[in-house]
Amino acid sequence: MDFLRPSSWDEALAMKAGTPGAVPIQGGTDVMVEINFDVHRPAALLDLNQVPELFTWERIDGSYRVGAGVPYVQIIAELGHELPGLAQAARTVGSPQIRNRGTVGGNLGAASPAGDSHPPLLAGDAIIEVASAAGTRMIPAHEFYLGVKKSALRPDELIRAFWMKPADGPQYFSKVGTRNAMVIAVCSFAVALHPSERRVGTGIGSAAPTPRRALEAEAFLAESLDWEARMDPEVLRRFGELVAAAASPIDDVRGTADYRRHALAVMARRTLTWAWNDYRKVRAA
Ligand SMILES: Cc1cc2nc3c(=O)[nH]c(=O)nc-3n(C[C@H](O)[C@H](O)[C@H](O)COP(=O)(O)OP(=O)(O)OC[C@H]3O[C@@H](n4cnc5c(N)ncnc54)[C@H](O)[C@@H]3O)c2cc1C
Repeated sequence: MDFLRPSSWDEALAMKAGTPGAVPIQGGTDVMVEINFDVHRPAALLDLNQVPELFTWERIDGSYRVGAGVPYVQIIAELGHELPGLAQAARTVGSPQIRNRGTVGGNLGAASPAGDSHPPLLAGDAIIEVASAAGTRMIPAHEFYLGVKKSALRPDELIRAFWMKPADGPQYFSKVGTRNAMVIAVCSFAVALHPSERRVGTGIGSAAPTPRRALEAEAFLAESLDWEARMDPEVLRRFGELVAAAASPIDDVRGTADYRRHALAVMARRTLTWAWNDYRKVRAA
């Protein structure tokens, strides 16, 4: 197995162009499991751990550009206030060891429907910056996920960063697992209030071939939510129903499709209630 080790972003792109089959490795928390279990034996690995550009985040024109190699632990510590939904999701990933090594870039690269960063990226309108030697593409998160473990990333491309605006309202993430830690989501849900636009963003995880938004539920809230009033229980109930209806879950070892739909409706109602209570508290202060 060849081991390619670029020391700059340009060198990484040149190496990927020269060897499109090379498998990028960042934290290695997915890649090494697959190699150890002989799921894949790639002809070449492209180690991105010496590429300094991937390990920084910056604020540009009101948005955060977070390098693909920034580990979860750093997102929690340094961006928890600005990107609270993503930080909440990051806190649920694996164990401290996994959060030290694992990255949102790797979660995106793996594109598993169960990846915990995807729902908050969707709810928060994230954009994924990908690049090849030929140029850069900015892909909205909702266009990034194409199928089970399939993304819009082309063979000669690498993920450079994701972009997200700081939260303009409360955000919440919720995950159901078979235990409290070190668990792949049975299903998960994220909500992001955008009060200035009178809009609510959503993201569903582990309940369809790809992470996805609950578009009808979002449209329903855009029409039905009275931003000056207490939450109408009927609106809450219908929102849960529409989120559950947006999923297309399967029965598998982690849970049944029926259970996933039920849990999604509960998480949708809960996270919206938490977010709404926070929003009302800030307004009342
Ligand atoms: C014990 C354990 C517990 C886990 N728990 C969770 C959990 O609770 N929630 C969860 O979501 N995940 C979990 N995972 C999976 C994994 O930790 C996450 O998916 C993590 O985000 C992967 O990040 P990484 O940097 O380690 O990726 P890597 O393993 O380095 O890479 C993952 C994939 O992304 C590709 N890739 C990496 N960087 C780039 C790049 N810059 N451009 C293009 N492609 C790239 C790789 O080629 C590979 O296909 C767990 C894993 C383990 C071993």
